[in-house]
Amino acid sequence: MVPARKASKSAKRNRRSHHALKPLNLSACPKCGTAKMPHRACANCGYVNAKISLKVQTEEG
Ligand SMILES: [Zn+2]
Repeated sequence: MVPARKASKSAKRNRRSHHALKPLNLSACPKCGTAKMPHRACANCGYVNAKISLKVQTEEG
């Protein structure tokens, strides 16, 4: 199908000017130092905060 009123290059580019992805906001894990996302458990050691720490599956078992 052909659109009745095709958007101009300018209108299309203006609309897509908001589509860019922002870089991930990573912070260092206070326990092991690897980069982790805020409010997420650390993928390396499972640390969340002083009270909570998740068990992470390691290669040893
Ligand atoms: Zn960690």
